[in-house]
Amino acid sequence: MQTITFIPGDGIGPEITAAMKEIVEATGIKIKWDMQLAGEEAMKQYGNPLPEDTLASIRKNKVAIKGPLTTPVGKGYRSLNVRLRKIFDLYAGVRPCKTYKGIISKYENVDLVIFRENTEGLYIGIEFAEGSEKTEEMLMEIEKLYGTKLPPDSALAIKDISVGGSMRLLKAAFEYARKFGRKKVTAVHKANIMKLTDGLFLQIAKEMSKSYPELEFDDVIIDNMALQLVKNPEKYDVLALPNLYGDVISDLCAGLVGGLGVVPSANIGDDCAIFEATHGSAPKYAGKNKANPTAITLAAVMMLRHIGEVEAAKKIENAISVTIAEGKYVTYDLKPPEKRDEAVGTKEYSIAVISKIEELL
Ligand code: NAD
Repeated sequence: MQTITFIPGDGIGPEITAAMKEIVEATGIKIKWDMQLAGEEAMKQYGNPLPEDTLASIRKNKVAIKGPLTTPVGKGYRSLNVRLRKIFDLYAGVRPCKTYKGIISKYENVDLVIFRENTEGLYIGIEFAEGSEKTEEMLMEIEKLYGTKLPPDSALAIKDISVGGSMRLLKAAFEYARKFGRKKVTAVHKANIMKLTDGLFLQIAKEMSKSYPELEFDDVIIDNMALQLVKNPEKYDVLALPNLYGDVISDLCAGLVGGLGVVPSANIGDDCAIFEATHGSAPKYAGKNKANPTAITLAAVMMLRHIGEVEAAKKIENAISVTIAEGKYVTYDLKPPEKRDEAVGTKEYSIAVISKIEELL
């Protein structure tokens, strides 16, 4: 039996993860949930928002599903999600964005999967403050190396694109496309301007595509990608992007399919994978049986595929799809504004999904 680290999370986390767990169990598969704390509750009990027991559990089980974690604003600890990514070297941010009938969206037939490089690019955190001694040294060095005199009141950031970092992300995208019968991989970049960094990413993508002859491959410049996704999102399939572009395009694509409330995500590395919803802890709805558990349940669908439980994943996705399309037992955010008073709660929605799973069994 597979053991999975289960982190309820903060705010609406405990309610939506409980609903997800019941839905997964309704498929009949046997999973041992290793319950661990992170975030506010861990802080209360251990004085540490990311206790060693939780990290040891993820290290051992290699697969975790977590509710959203609140990041205190202005004071307290830094983002636990970023820390988890770093600790476990979760280099691929995977986000499927798919339209489901019944979800309010301007688009139909969108079925995209985004692979965002999670560990390098402009997000490595090496910045030089305006007016600092280090910045002055860097500016002098740049002038010496390039003959370019940048304004003395500049702040600087380093962008790092490595061969190894690009290869592992692109390989994950191509392998996913192959494994799940996808048709096309698109590499997204700005190699026309950043010839040596994005150019390197593109060169590796082109080279790698030769090992996947059954897949169509193309590349699109990031600004054109934004335009194309708004005009014709149904033309794209698997997108592979460096960190910053992946961050922005992930949210753009969530918007194409009805918002963060229905979009799951995974952070995957060579050793471990952590699955979650893309939305946050929505503290105003905590404990009110209002929040929509769809995104975390679709994260469980990704998780089940990851561990090879493809049939259970399919059953849950079908049951969610039918429940949302019928539109009767859905949470407030999936109802049109004039029908919000007919919405059901988290629990009732999960009961409706479970009854569809039982019908499909
Ligand atoms: P949020 O996603 O929590 O909320 C944005 C809006 O969407 C709110 O109106 C909220 O009520 C609504 N919403 C979110 N999820 C919903 C759901 N499942 N069902 C129904 N409505 C839902 O974003 P925020 O308010 O910016 O962030 C709140 C906290 O969550 C912050 O501390 C933030 O740092 C954290 N956060 C955590 C993660 C994560 O753990 N992966 C991701 C994003 C934000």
